[in-house]
Amino acid sequence: MGALLYAMILGIIPGMIARKKGRSFLGWYIYGVLLFIIALPHSLIMKSRYQCPYCMSNIDPKAVVCPKCARDIGQEDNLLNEAE
Ligand SMILES: [Zn+2]
Repeated sequence: MGALLYAMILGIIPGMIARKKGRSFLGWYIYGVLLFIIALPHSLIMKSRYQCPYCMSNIDPKAVVCPKCARDIGQEDNLLNEAE
């Protein structure tokens, strides 16, 4: 019982990291609870959705144009996620 509780608390970490990168908290939370050892490094190395696909710099989630390289970023996906 203690181990399960511990896993449920640890799962929050990859969930929070994923959330910051614009991914589903719940999906990554479950992944973190079940496979924390894999989910944690996976969440850390995964590419943020809030990243310019051309120059890889971090951008504002609502940005339409990259502030660094000034290229147009197609972000229709983000509009769908606003509801979250
Ligand atoms: Zn850029």
